[in-house]
Amino acid sequence: MVYAVGVDIGGSHIEGVRIDSRKRVTNKTTIKLPKRSTKKAAVGMLYSVLDGLCEDKGLKGIGIGVAGAVKDGVLIRSPNSPFMDSTDFRKLVSGKYETRVVVDNDVTCMAFGEMMKRDEENILVVTLGTGIGGGLVSGGRLYRGKSHAGEIGHMSIRFDGPVCVCGNTGCFEEYASARGVRRLAAEITGRKMESHTVFEQAAKGNKAALRVWKEYGKLLGTGLSNLCFILDPEVIVIGGGISEASEYFMEAVKKEMRNRMFIPLPKIAVARTYANAFGAACMALEGQPR
Ligand SMILES: [Zn+2]
Repeated sequence: MVYAVGVDIGGSHIEGVRIDSRKRVTNKTTIKLPKRSTKKAAVGMLYSVLDGLCEDKGLKGIGIGVAGAVKDGVLIRSPNSPFMDSTDFRKLVSGKYETRVVVDNDVTCMAFGEMMKRDEENILVVTLGTGIGGGLVSGGRLYRGKSHAGEIGHMSIRFDGPVCVCGNTGCFEEYASARGVRRLAAEITGRKMESHTVFEQAAKGNKAALRVWKEYGKLLGTGLSNLCFILDPEVIVIGGGISEASEYFMEAVKKEMRNRMFIPLPKIAVARTYANAFGAACMALEGQPR
């Protein structure tokens, strides 16, 4: 049986899936990275994820999605995991597994996976986590611009806002990534809280936590409105860890978008789990798209 493996190397986890030739997921696994990881440790964990998913026969290829700018199989720069800068993943993995290896930006992988399984031809994928990532499908093809299209997290939504990790001010991801949730939680509850805690509190019906998500939805909706004016996608697919809380912020997102947009709103969908790894596996099966 022909199959492909896809891996998503995130800031906190490495996730992997195996898909068959019809792109059905047949196996999946996840491994947690320690808080302060090193390149060596992360690569060791990548190998153990791959060992668990690669069988002897039929491996068509391995796809690897990584957060940051990728060129020719190398992760050039990763603002949220700087210890991984300049890692040649293609060399590291193709040397060990003797198969085709494709390496791409994690959100581009997710966009490719969505393109494979959805009917729409114009898709915007947005991942909400440590940072914000974007991936674009235009007219049924990945849109890459010169090479770095989709860095939507660094679109400024407030010209004199706080300085972002990238050096720009008032970036979308200062407001709608996990940093934004933490800031809102501190403002509204007066307490330091991680986004998953705000999620748990909201699930228990805590009023302040629910308010945090409502305010968060307004900020996210503002950024998404800007993107719709430029891209006018048929669907926005939301992924990343924060998308787990979507039931608490989605209504506020849509309301904000309706308030701001005079053009019709797109559909908004929430991604499945393992969406990045699934897309990376699809790339390995199909060959890396340009
Ligand atoms: Zn930025």
